[in-house]
Amino acid sequence: MFENLSERLSGVFDRLTKQGALSEDDVKTALREVRVALLEADVSLPVARDFVKAVQEKATGQAVTKSITPGQQVVKIVHDELVHVLTGEDDPGKLKIDNAPAPILMVGLQGSGKTTTTGKLAKRLKEREGKRVLMASLDVNRPAAMEQLAILGTQIGVDTLPIVKGEDPVQIAKRARTQAGLGGYDVYMLDTAGRLHIDAELIAQAAAVRDAVNPRETLLVVDGLTGQVAVEVAEEFDDKIGVTGVVLTRMDGDGRGGAALSMRAVTGKPIRFVGLGEKMDAIETFEPERIAGRILGMGDIVSLVEKAQETIEAEQAERMMRRFQKGQFNMNDLRMQLEQMQKMGGMEGMMGMMPGMGKMAKQVQEAGFDDRIIVQQIALIQSMTKKERANPKLLQASRKKRIARGAGQEVSELNKLLKMHRQMGDMMKKMGKMGKGGMLKQAMK
Ligand code: GDP
Repeated sequence: MFENLSERLSGVFDRLTKQGALSEDDVKTALREVRVALLEADVSLPVARDFVKAVQEKATGQAVTKSITPGQQVVKIVHDELVHVLTGEDDPGKLKIDNAPAPILMVGLQGSGKTTTTGKLAKRLKEREGKRVLMASLDVNRPAAMEQLAILGTQIGVDTLPIVKGEDPVQIAKRARTQAGLGGYDVYMLDTAGRLHIDAELIAQAAAVRDAVNPRETLLVVDGLTGQVAVEVAEEFDDKIGVTGVVLTRMDGDGRGGAALSMRAVTGKPIRFVGLGEKMDAIETFEPERIAGRILGMGDIVSLVEKAQETIEAEQAERMMRRFQKGQFNMNDLRMQLEQMQKMGGMEGMMGMMPGMGKMAKQVQEAGFDDRIIVQQIALIQSMTKKERANPKLLQASRKKRIARGAGQEVSELNKLLKMHRQMGDMMKKMGKMGKGGMLKQAMK
């Protein structure tokens, strides 16, 4: 799965990570190649475009650290963005099957691997979750399809609903429900009829079954080899019937993988499983981290960058700690604090992590602090000169006016910031005096 894309991308990044300093042009060229690689993998155009744009934006404002090269940093950003486009659901493999017997509706075109996937999922539910599963084929037009499911059932030791000639799909679905209830099954899976193309009858039939049993999950099975077509099929099925997730089959093939990357972005529906072969065990939950890892094949670099980032944060915290102990707290420190706050979920998030800080949080808030204005406050600090930041006492009326204007704000906002700085400075001094074992130190661990 993803071999071609993976190869193309590793070519791009090998060149990038070999260089020391990167110019903006290097990054641009690399991203242009990434875009071409995505399009060649049959990722839809808007998705490829947004992807590259997001990476570009993140790569431009990033602080680069000494221990890693800019190229490595770009790899990490691309990795994170891949995870982002692939992520749809926290726990994609968890099927909603409480309230036994829970109906699962399987839909998809003929030949997509729907019947095979029904069997695979039934086996999984039985073996991994100890569920009793009943499977039923609703494909009244193709007796062979009904037989196929019965044979699969025997192979994997899962019961199938006995075939009764002359019933329509809704009747079969209702019989499956009754049987599942009487027989003490946890789940009943309905394998609907497939067609070569989506047509009105196919949709009407699936919708009628859906209305009859009110499925807990409606899983759409699509052939991953068909790339963007798979995404179009998913859009249409979701539009007409409503699906709760997608299973991409044939991901063991030399598919270009584009369907996996476009699916969530285009349809809004998560991929829940991927089919990786004809055997009944050849199915996996769709794990974005793992898939992104496979696509990039640069796990070493990704973890290297993660570690480096952790180290920088720890070093910053240490440095700040030492400054507080010396009673130093200038505008650069405040800015760092504000940025930390943004990362940690605002004022409340940060104070919440520090034991005994509830009261101080209140004081700071009374001083006019609001999470929404963190951004504005950072802008004010950015508008100061280096000297002013190091020594805010310099800030007299004319300087204040200049700074406020530079940040597009009122002087009164700047005064609030300065007041907050004084209060926080006092607070930091007190905390610094508590020494190495003090609570700030603890909170920063
Ligand atoms: P249906 O018409 O949608 O029910 O499709 P089937 O379940 O009958 O599958 C059609 C063919 O695709 C069968 O030969 C399956 O063995 C094969 N198939 C299904 N899923 C996969 C998969 O994930 N990988 C591969 N290589 N083959 C698959």
